Amino acid sequence: MDFITTKSIAIIGFGPFSQFFVPHLKPFFENISVWNRSDKQAIAQEMGVSSVTLVEALSKDIIVLSTSVSFFEDLLKIHQIDINPNALVLDVASVKLKPVEILEKYLPKSCQIVATHPLFGPQSGKDGIENKRIVVCPVRTTQLDKIIDFFSNKLKLQVMLKTPKEHDLQMAYVQALTHFIARALSELVIPETDQKTDAFKALLEIKRLLGGDSFDLFLAIQNDNPYAKQVRLDFLEQLTKLHSNLN
Ligand code: NAP
Repeated sequence: MDFITTKSIAIIGFGPFSQFFVPHLKPFFENISVWNRSDKQAIAQEMGVSSVTLVEALSKDIIVLSTSVSFFEDLLKIHQIDINPNALVLDVASVKLKPVEILEKYLPKSCQIVATHPLFGPQSGKDGIENKRIVVCPVRTTQLDKIIDFFSNKLKLQVMLKTPKEHDLQMAYVQALTHFIARALSELVIPETDQKTDAFKALLEIKRLLGGDSFDLFLAIQNDNPYAKQVRLDFLEQLTKLHSNLN
């Protein structure tokens, strides 16, 4: 018996990330249930997954939270009573300190909690996820080996074990800074040119990879990571210094 794949699984939130990730999970689960705030039944049907009520989703053995982080607290506070007390609960949020604090606060003590952050998304993973990285923060679990085995040997991901603090400290540079630049590049009108250098192509690639992410995701990366603001301020200070030196 495989601990992970013999279980019932529900994904709460069927937005861009879940729709991208579900095809990678499908080979390993007989029935995947999804719940989404707005009606996504047609997409669920097309992708061969079951669209269920929130209460039904919260009764499954494995519950994956894949909504914007701002919704976690409301969801778990209001629906505390509906959560399967024996569930393994995972999240995929791009920040880790805040969701882990909420999961620990509101989930029944008997639930297992494993926080994750897949370091790929619909754009960067469109040609496959093999060898992509996933950060795993074990919070409360007796099944860590099996979960790591699933990610490594079934999904073929590289697993990086981190604490939520280690994750957020590094992501303040890796994500908050990069997405800050990408969002600014998206707003900037860059004229088409046939004189592209490699460095310029890299700049356009940042814009292409990240500029299409939802604004909620951008807000979470910036505002829900307690270390992001300082990195933005340091970066802006450097830009201002450089600019005034030129003047
Ligand atoms: P997102 O904008 O972060 O989340 C969209 C999902 O959140 C939709 O299902 C949306 O429902 C739901 N949602 C937003 N506010 C809600 C509310 N108040 N109540 C209920 N549901 C609400 O986009 P995403 O890219 O799909 O991200 C989902 C999760 O994956 C996030 O935690 C994100 O940090 C994580 N993640 C994303 C990426 C990526 O590259 N996109 C990569 C790694 C991890 P509606 O459809 O009804 O609006």
